[in-house]
Amino acid sequence: AERDRLAASNGPGRTADGHPVKLLLNIGSAGDLRPDAEGVGLFRTEFLFLDRKQAPSFEQQVSAYTEVFGRAEHVIVRTLDAGTDKPLPFLGLPDEPNPALGVRGLRVDRLLPDVLDTQLDAIAEAARATGTPAWVMAPMVTTPAEAGAFAGRARARGIAKVGAMVEVPAAALRAERLLREVDFLSIGTNDLAQYTFAADRQHPALADLLDPRQPALLQLIALCAEAGREAGKPVGVCGEAAGDPLLAPLLVGLGVTSLSMAPVCVPAVREALAGLTLQDCRERARSALD
Ligand code: PEP
Ligand code: MG
Repeated sequence: AERDRLAASNGPGRTADGHPVKLLLNIGSAGDLRPDAEGVGLFRTEFLFLDRKQAPSFEQQVSAYTEVFGRAEHVIVRTLDAGTDKPLPFLGLPDEPNPALGVRGLRVDRLLPDVLDTQLDAIAEAARATGTPAWVMAPMVTTPAEAGAFAGRARARGIAKVGAMVEVPAAALRAERLLREVDFLSIGTNDLAQYTFAADRQHPALADLLDPRQPALLQLIALCAEAGREAGKPVGVCGEAAGDPLLAPLLVGLGVTSLSMAPVCVPAVREALAGLTLQDCRERARSALD
């Protein structure tokens, strides 16, 4: 019994009946890594460079990515997510009247394509240096065409797996087509809620609209998970909802294959899943959708 308890507290994530759910970490740098997860589901690379006045060089990026690849087995790197709540002064992006709906995330590439080229080069180099099959995803992908263009540039550099974040309702609605272009999806429920309910994700007066139990949000997540199941490709959640022990089983019931969260959330989510069967999770999902 003691061995089972230890396995449950340290081993891979799974439900009471053994259905595997990868438990991954959201990190901003190598310092956030913890040994009790199965890898990194969201490496927020912009956190490395938030207060810089100068663009990080290729070499500086290679060293930051190498540090993480050297210490964790499975790492999903997100390319720079600049704009709105994460300003990167060195990019010198013009001020906009509506920044959340403007040039942010992958859209920065429309103005400054060199930034993404250098970052993909640096990720590919760090992957080569450490022998890591890098997984890379872009934030704020909106159409399958954007996903395809991003995937082409990443694959041209030998990056092993290319993904798209689903943070915009248009992307969720077209999940099946997105998955013809990329190898995996990762749902950013923080932004997906913001854009689905037209409610600023930081606005305290709108918290009820931003609640991840809102059925409209769950329905979009279900669409993505279903598309992933049909394509045989992983679909995870990396927004804050994934780290909530009450919501995690519901997300598993909707069909997502991994949950990526702040390191401090891993033990409670692992325990919540270990206490429920996949059927229990599906029932929770069904009643939440109702
Ligand atoms: C999200 O939007 O849910 C997400 C994981 O990305 P971030 O919180 O960094 O915008
Ligand atoms: Mg986001």
